Amino acid sequence: MSLLLDQIRLSHPHLWKAFSAIADGEQHLHHIKELDRYWEMLKQPVQQVILPGDQLPKSAVINGEYDLVYAGGTLSLLHAAVMARKYGRKVMIFDRQMPAKSTRDWNISRQELLNLSATGLFTESEVDSFIVRRYKTGWVGFYKPDGSQKKLYMENVLDCAVDADKLLGHAKEKLLAVPGSTILARTSFSCCYCFDDHVVVKVEDSAGKAFYYKAKVLVDVMGILSPIAMQLNEGFPQTHVCPTVGTIASGFENVDFDTGEILASTGPADTSSVRGRQLIWEGFPAESDRYITYLFFYDEADSPNDKSLLGLFDTYFRILPEYKKPGKDFVVHRPVYGIIPAYFHDGFNRTREIADDHIILFGDAASLGSPLTFCGFGSMVRNLHHLTADLDQAISDNNLAKKHLEQISAYEPNVASMANLMKFMCYNSATDEPNFVNDLMNEVMIVLDDMPERYRQAMFRDEMKIEDLMLVMLRLAWRYPRVMRATWEKLGVQGSVGFMKNLVGWALSPLR
Ligand SMILES: Cc1cc2nc3c(=O)[nH]c(=O)nc-3n(C[C@H](O)[C@H](O)[C@H](O)COP(=O)(O)OP(=O)(O)OC[C@H]3O[C@@H](n4cnc5c(N)ncnc54)[C@H](O)[C@@H]3O)c2cc1C
Repeated sequence: MSLLLDQIRLSHPHLWKAFSAIADGEQHLHHIKELDRYWEMLKQPVQQVILPGDQLPKSAVINGEYDLVYAGGTLSLLHAAVMARKYGRKVMIFDRQMPAKSTRDWNISRQELLNLSATGLFTESEVDSFIVRRYKTGWVGFYKPDGSQKKLYMENVLDCAVDADKLLGHAKEKLLAVPGSTILARTSFSCCYCFDDHVVVKVEDSAGKAFYYKAKVLVDVMGILSPIAMQLNEGFPQTHVCPTVGTIASGFENVDFDTGEILASTGPADTSSVRGRQLIWEGFPAESDRYITYLFFYDEADSPNDKSLLGLFDTYFRILPEYKKPGKDFVVHRPVYGIIPAYFHDGFNRTREIADDHIILFGDAASLGSPLTFCGFGSMVRNLHHLTADLDQAISDNNLAKKHLEQISAYEPNVASMANLMKFMCYNSATDEPNFVNDLMNEVMIVLDDMPERYRQAMFRDEMKIEDLMLVMLRLAWRYPRVMRATWEKLGVQGSVGFMKNLVGWALSPLR
């Protein structure tokens, strides 16, 4: 019996049993515990990792010099590969785990995925080879005790299951084919020292040995655990979170491989935790006989609920049969998990810090995606073209001060406004009936069902236009006036004013 698994035998028996049966159970448990450190980090004093250049130890030896050093090896692979191949930049990526390996797979539509061939990174047929399954139609539905819920069907939304490791592996090969590019595994970010015209990044290998690399720009792609995002945002890098766990498994009884279940709740809010949570499922057909199921909930980052992935995973394995029944040949091929970040911008524009002099944040470290539908992969794919072209231009122009770098972002005013809707899905037992989230979302589905399909596609593909959202909101308020009171209770004065500011910023934005 492995030591780490043994530790959770009594506290998380369902997870213990399931992980004991999979090959890398111990390793995944280790990774999950590492991600769960996030909750502790939020309570601790902020670690100072961006330091002035004069604090660089005199004994430090520069081990390499690059245009761009990327801390974190997931979405960085896409950005770095374009920077190296298309713009001829000398890049280095390091990750404390294995770069180009993800703890999740991704769903997206083919049309959006083709952005990757538009940047010239992959050919169209390479892009197609990453799609391991495409389903015909998908639906969203929220529980009603009498079974009267509206299933809202839509096509070309999240309908392609992408093999993340294959996609990242290809990007890695393309990157390494460019002379001078470097990828380091088992290498952790320690801190960085900022000078007028460059930054020095200190890393440690798995034995704790320090190395120093000089770069024009440090790209922070360390995800939700980024200590840089933590420092720049004064210990409050996310306002909301969406802890998510699941599996890629085979052997379920009666799953439909032609249909995706984009959002599905199967019961009222779970009120066993402090403030309660509305659990939501997702089910996507994957490669051959495999099927992906996710369980997640939305919450405020500082709520008193247990938001640990460990706890959620135990719940997942306990209640999975209520969603999809494992048959006698049920096998978990891979667990998938992570904390999806979200940020409420209290202003007309982006209010989150995403850059400093010679430092820029992308992906979950920047937290500019919407947790409602696509999240960070979709956001990176949509924005890759300008995130690479603009950064190359900034390097050429030597415009690498914070005020220039922070203009290079995946901030989208429509996504920021839509992300406010997650607040309605954060259940609170102090103010909400157990079916509050289900009832509200069911009404949204009824409203969308009455409108042409483009509205629902736009909403679930982060492509909403402000006039379309207004129409949906008006129709919802007309059908379900209770939403007015809920807005007040969920958003409060500051949140309601902030939402209005987001909408005004969106209306005035050239990206409308
Ligand atoms: C279960 C799940 C399913 C998802 N499905 C979708 C989907 O269908 N579509 C979609 O668009 N998005 C989806 N997302 C969101 C998407 O996966 C993330 O937005 C994306 O992975 C973010 O990538 P990233 O590179 O920014 O961060 P991460 O993927 O978190 O990668 C960060 C990397 O940084 C490394 N790192 C952290 N700290 C350090 C350090 N100190 N030193 C060195 N390295 C470090 C980590 O080891 C890690 O490899 C999903 C998320 C989850 C959790």
